Amino acid sequence: MTTEYALEARGLGRKFGAFWAVKDVDLKVRRGSIHAMIGPNGAGKTTCFNLLTKTLQPSTGSIILNGEDISRLRTSDVATQGMARSFQISATFTQMTALENVRVALQAGKGTAYRFWRPLGSIAHLNTRAMELLENVGLQDSAGVAASDLSYGKKRALEIATTLALDPQVMLLDEPTAGMGHEDIEPITELIRKVSVGRTVLIVEHNLSVVSSLSDRITVLQAGQILTEGNYAEVSSDERVIAAYMGG
Ligand code: ADP
Repeated sequence: MTTEYALEARGLGRKFGAFWAVKDVDLKVRRGSIHAMIGPNGAGKTTCFNLLTKTLQPSTGSIILNGEDISRLRTSDVATQGMARSFQISATFTQMTALENVRVALQAGKGTAYRFWRPLGSIAHLNTRAMELLENVGLQDSAGVAASDLSYGKKRALEIATTLALDPQVMLLDEPTAGMGHEDIEPITELIRKVSVGRTVLIVEHNLSVVSSLSDRITVLQAGQILTEGNYAEVSSDERVIAAYMGG
């Protein structure tokens, strides 16, 4: 079904003990847009991401993907519904090469069915597809390099390639420029812009110049709730947003 909003949260909340990390969040991510979620540390951005991808169970509310309520789906089923998030290569398959990492992602997603149905030639097909994905993110010359030996910027590009392996309609990127030096930020911003074409992207990002250059719409969280929403000019001139960022 083609709906105006690819992803929605309605009354989303999550309590840890008596503490609401996320409360009453209503979010609408327009199909084909890049939507950023920003807010000071502890605002609830990561919790929101984990709720949206079903990594964490919500205490309240529902999540609608392409018009379907996915609140009751398991994390593993969310990918088959067309949503995938970046995950930290740096924390997982570090000894595997870039190519192997992408192959695993392909096999974990839709590639699995292909492997069973077309055993002959399937490895060659996987390698070809994995190489295409590496080329897509500019890592074609690093295919045989262990993930642990890639530069920081290339690791993040590899994470994006593994996310793309699931061919998601909706892609969630969790702080793709975190910890990056200036020289890596521009290429990764360009890469996100490129891979966003034809997809819907929700991004948590601290770097406001990245947010301003990429995002169509921005939701600002504070203390687990939505403070405001709008385009960059609107949210960056909002006194409450300025105060939140100044710790006021
Ligand atoms: P952000 O990503 O915006 O920095 P988080 O979503 O990580 O914020 O955290 C929001 C709040 O929820 C913080 O106060 C954090 O300490 C709390 N929190 C997050 N995860 C847990 C948890 N598993 N148990 C208890 N408190 C948590």
